[in-house]
Amino acid sequence: MKSLLVMKFGGTSMGSADRIRAAAAIIAKEQKKRALIIVVSAMSEITDLLFETLRRAEVGDRAAVDSSLHNLLTRHREASDDLFRRTESASKFRDAAYQAVEALVCECHRIANGILMLGERPPRSVDEALAIGERLSSALLAHYLDSIGVDSCAVNGSDLIVTDAVFGNASPQMEPTRKRCLERLVPLVAKGTVPVITGFNGATVDGYLTTLGRGGSDFSASILAAAMDAEELWIWTDVDGIMTADPRLVDDVAVLDQVSYAEAAELAYNGAKILHPRTLAPLVQKHIPVWSKNSFAPEKPGTKIVSHFDEPRGARAVTSMSNIALISMEPANAVLGGTRLMARALDALALANVEILVFTSSSYRQTFCLLIRKHDVPTALEALEANLSLELAHGYLKPIDVDENVGLLAVVGEGMRGTPGLAGRVFTAISRENINIIAIAQGSSELTIGIVVRRDGLERAVRAVHAECQLGKTAHRMEPEEITAHQHPGAR
Ligand code: ADP
Ligand code: ASP
Ligand code: MG
Repeated sequence: MKSLLVMKFGGTSMGSADRIRAAAAIIAKEQKKRALIIVVSAMSEITDLLFETLRRAEVGDRAAVDSSLHNLLTRHREASDDLFRRTESASKFRDAAYQAVEALVCECHRIANGILMLGERPPRSVDEALAIGERLSSALLAHYLDSIGVDSCAVNGSDLIVTDAVFGNASPQMEPTRKRCLERLVPLVAKGTVPVITGFNGATVDGYLTTLGRGGSDFSASILAAAMDAEELWIWTDVDGIMTADPRLVDDVAVLDQVSYAEAAELAYNGAKILHPRTLAPLVQKHIPVWSKNSFAPEKPGTKIVSHFDEPRGARAVTSMSNIALISMEPANAVLGGTRLMARALDALALANVEILVFTSSSYRQTFCLLIRKHDVPTALEALEANLSLELAHGYLKPIDVDENVGLLAVVGEGMRGTPGLAGRVFTAISRENINIIAIAQGSSELTIGIVVRRDGLERAVRAVHAECQLGKTAHRMEPEEITAHQHPGAR
């Protein structure tokens, strides 16, 4: 749709009645300029609460389940009270919000009871329960928008986004999704209603609810923006945009005015929480620009993510990831060829749906190591040991080694290509801090250098690399006229 803007509000931007009011003010302003679609996350910490509730249900802890669901109800009821307390006429909206909240918490009780009885958490039921967080927040925002005169309607992402059946980390099927969006959203938008869509969830073709991975509301928003041929996607969060490092780790971070799709994707894949790793994929082909903006300071320009621009030289940002593990494998003798072993290991992990973050090998000893997420370790070990059971039993393969005491640091920038000496400076800066480098990986695109270090040195290494590359000081800053030229059309 020409001149359609998709805006996504993250957990902190939906985290309280005040934040919902701030989001609604942004929506009310933009809605006067062009057609809008809104995507929301659950209120902050609610997905964790739901997850923990189900974990407690699985172990039969009914008291904990009841107490968590009481907290779920109270948080959303209090937000409703606060949102609709101002005027007499608001009470009808508050009653409608209350009703929606109670019905959804009841649904959560039903799922938790099933898990309590079964003593296990089927992935399908987990996704069905997790989706309730976003259904609650979208109901609150939609009722609040109605109460301030912005015609709106809560819509379930599961009625729009068709996915495969990989519960917990589903992938979209774009053609059926596009068809559903055209049927369902176009009529709403055409009559001036603002759809408030639940992020994070979709459904299989036969209607089972799925989720798109933690932090997946960004991905929902980009799927919907691509399906609807939106003009732009704005992602509202709690910081001023994409920064040269995580502001929670480094003091003198700078906001990047622009980054390329490739840079943003590398940053996200290597641990920058600001974007879900798969967010950019649906947008690349259609060149739909994304803005990362701060809902606490909406007047600030934020970061624009685009296909290409005149990249500054050198590194642009450094990221880190800590919940990871390094799996090392080594043949015990020459009987087992290294290449065959690698192929079998990769095949086993692919079949078990385990994502490999970094892969490095040494050709002489035929050893290799794989970096994966910590929560994937049991699945990965089971898959590797099953696939290579004979080789392990006969001693052709040394026991598989798992090191959970590691962290990944990544330096990212399109301008690193052809900047001689940069990798050396990065390694020197890390060693100067007496931090041991365990593994190094650089893709052929030279866009990212990944460095595995001991976990306890990770934060220091990030700060050392940020300082060495002078990221806080030298990040490309636009001249005032450049900023105006790059502003989104609504702000021109
Ligand atoms: P939301 O709830 O809006 O989706 P997230 O918590 O998922 O927000 O992501 C925003 C957070 O990402 C920020 O508060 C910040 O701490 C973290 N972050 C990590 N790396 C970066 C980075 N390079 N730039 C900006 N923020 C980052
Ligand atoms: N609420 C989900 C989560 O916490 C999705 C999101 O916030 O993007 O993972
Ligand atoms: Mg997020």
